[in-house]
Parts: sequence; structure tokens; C-alpha cells
Amino acid sequence: MKIDLKGKSAVVTGSTSGIGLGVARALAEAGAGVMLNGFGEPGVVEDLRRGLAAEFGVEVLHHPADLSRPEESARLVADAEKAFGRLDILVNNAGVQHVAPVEAFPVEQWDRILALNLSSSFHTIRAALPGMRRRGWGRVINVASAHGLVASVEKAAYVAAKHGLIGLTKVVALETARTAVTCNAICPGWVLTPLVQRQIDALAEREAVSVSEAKRRLLADKQPSQEFATPEQIGALAVFLCSESAAQMRGAALSIDGGWTAQ
Ligand code: NAD
Repeated sequence: MKIDLKGKSAVVTGSTSGIGLGVARALAEAGAGVMLNGFGEPGVVEDLRRGLAAEFGVEVLHHPADLSRPEESARLVADAEKAFGRLDILVNNAGVQHVAPVEAFPVEQWDRILALNLSSSFHTIRAALPGMRRRGWGRVINVASAHGLVASVEKAAYVAAKHGLIGLTKVVALETARTAVTCNAICPGWVLTPLVQRQIDALAEREAVSVSEAKRRLLADKQPSQEFATPEQIGALAVFLCSESAAQMRGAALSIDGGWTAQ
């Protein structure tokens, strides 16, 4: 099934790496103009931007907004609307992790994770919806997590934020239910990205095992398939959610988790 997003434009937050980059690539491949966002060495980010534009023949921009700041989330959307003349697809993906028992959880990490993994999506959606409603079409896709559906120890802020993001997804879906704007969440299990590599490295050190053994243990603990999901698979689902076939998918929390939440 070929999904054509030519003429549409998208913002993908946190797309200089990992899942966000996979989603940005998939949207660009389907023909959408894409505004990347996220941190990185300026030269590396510019190579990424130019590479995507050349590979897929679409307009690709980068915006450096720090989405832990509410005003920058709103500015990202306003600048994308200005640059493309429209914003049709908003993918809220930027996220960070911190692992600690709740009574030792640093307050500043709680605040940082809630600000980025939850509140930034409220701010971008709030800014993007009026234009989508006016133009009569839109797609909001929130990258939540298996941790939006179930919990794990030592991830209080992350689990709280991702559960909250699924709640936000449902509210936005209801408020837009009579329009051609939809809002859904994707809930990945383990995907091998820098965010997860840090957890694998910590596990290897803690349990005094090799990195490949740590990877095996991480998967064995949660993911029945024993295989990582990939940014490409998440990107393909995001593109499907942008298609007309998905027009009546609203407020769903869609798992790509190797069976994690089936248990
Ligand atoms: P990653 O670390 O590879 O990428 C995170 C991206 O967010 C980067 O582009 C980074 O520059 C950007 N970012 C970080 N702080 C930012 C800020 N303040 N403002 C703007 N951008 C910022 O991580 P990932 O694994 O690709 O995670 C992407 C999303 O997927 C996150 O929301 C994460 O919670 C979610 N997720 C990941 C997994 C997994 O296994 N990797 C599983 C479930 C959900």
C-alpha cells in the first residue's frame, strides 16, 4: 500500500536521533516536508537535514527548540507553520529517561521528564490544533511507550509522563472527533536507540556482564519476542496513521512491543 503525503508538512520532535529520526525518514519518504527538531552537533544535524532532503526530494528543515520550555514548544509550531505555510502532521516524540527508586528520584529529573515527555506535547498540540481545524485536516501522533500502559520499577517520572500522554491523546481525540483531525499514540517496547543503549550499558556494569549479554537480559526481562522493535517499524505505523485508511482510528494506544504488554 503506497501512502502519498506529498503537499503535507510535518514536525517531528526529537528527530535528530532514534525513533524520531525513523519517523521523520518515513514521512519524508512518503513525500511530506519535515521539520526536524532535537539536539546534536550543528554539522551532524546539518548533514542529516541535507541528506534527508536529497534522498527523498522534499523540504527538510531543522528547528533547535528546547521543548522542556513551554514557549519554545509553541514557537516550534509557529515557525513550522510560517516556513511551510501549513502544519498537517505533528509527531510528539522527544523524550528522556532517568532511572532511580522513587524515594531517591531527583526532583529536577522528575520536573525535566514531566516537562519534556508530557507537557511539551500539550504545548505543541495546543499551538497546532487551530491551524489543523482551520484547514480541515490533521494528524497528531504521540510517541508514548509500553510504559504508558504498564509500569516498571525505578521509572516513576517516565511511567507517569507516558500514562499522562496516553490520557492527553484520548482527550484530544475526543475533542477533534467530529473533524478530520485525528490523534493517536504509538507505544513502542524496547527499540535500540541511544536512550536504551544507556540503560544497556548501565545493566552491563551493574551485573558485570558483556554489553551483548546485557542486551539479551534486557529483552528477556520484558519483551517476549526477544527482539528489538525498530525505528523503521515505528515510522511505518506513523505513516499509516497519516493515511485515509486510518481516518477512524482515534484515541488509540497502539503497541509495537514484541508482546511486552500482552503478558
Ligand atoms: P533518543 O535519545 O535516541 O532520541 C531523543 C531525541 O529527543 C533526540 O533527538 C534528542 O536530541 C531529543 N531531545 C532530547 N531532549 C530534548 C529537548 N529538551 N528538546 C527537544 N528535543 C530533545 O531516544 P529514543 O529512544 O529515540 O526515544 C524517542 C521517544 O520514544 C521518547 O519519547 C521515548 O520515551 C520513546 N520510547 C523509546 C523507546 C525505546 O526503547 N527506545 C521505547 C518506548 C518509547
